[in-house]
Amino acid sequence: MLKLEGVNAFYGTIQALKNISLRVGVGDIVTIIGANGAGKTTLLKTISGVIQSPGGAIWYQGTDINHCSPAKIVSLGISQVPEGRQLFSHLTVLDNLYLGAYLYHNRKFKAEIEEKLDWIYTLFPILRKRAKQLAGTMSGGEQQMVAIARALMSRPKLLLLDEPSMGLAPLFVHEIFKVIRRLNDQGTTILLVEQNARAALQIARYGYVLETGTVALEGPSQELLADDKVRRAYLGK
Ligand code: ATP
Repeated sequence: MLKLEGVNAFYGTIQALKNISLRVGVGDIVTIIGANGAGKTTLLKTISGVIQSPGGAIWYQGTDINHCSPAKIVSLGISQVPEGRQLFSHLTVLDNLYLGAYLYHNRKFKAEIEEKLDWIYTLFPILRKRAKQLAGTMSGGEQQMVAIARALMSRPKLLLLDEPSMGLAPLFVHEIFKVIRRLNDQGTTILLVEQNARAALQIARYGYVLETGTVALEGPSQELLADDKVRRAYLGK
């Protein structure tokens, strides 16, 4: 579904990604783990078109989307749940969700948008009850649900998740990972960036370890979980 070849990213003169190659198959859950500053967020932003890669290619279902606009990339079926949620805190939960479907904001799609909302409420029942609440007044875990739900409003085929468990209590982390698994079971392909390397490798089929902007290690998740270097550096063992 997704294939990166020789992707780079720069912030001014700082090179944050160096010659990254990576693959995500249809129906996969793939994770990217790495320390703070390794380039994980930059990688997701490059896939979603917020940052452009000079050179290299980002193949998505056979089309090179490097240099496509973020809006075009969303319309092709890729949505990102950003790090730190980045909700519109002064808008209601429902308005945040509608904004996730802004590409379809046209009377023609009204029924389809309501159908998506119903589907999202089955995934996150609490959001139906809190639809009129200002997003900024929701708890951290609830806000993460809104952020995921907003990304789902465009019915992505590939969902990019940036640190969905960050700052959440264990119960919410469990809930969020349950939803990720359920979404994947329903056919959404997932690329998951996580600091919680153990949880990420347990849910993913394949993993990449990023270090200072390069892929230092990759392999099936079970192999990475057993790898000495990964255990010492990322699993606290
Ligand atoms: P974290 O786990 O802390 O979120 P990360 O692996 O997601 O880290 P990035 O946020 O992608 O890492 O950052 C990669 C590198 O790029 C870091 O050295 C960071 O300081 C730098 N960087 C990120 N954003 C910018 C920016 N807007 N301007 C300059 N440098 C940046």
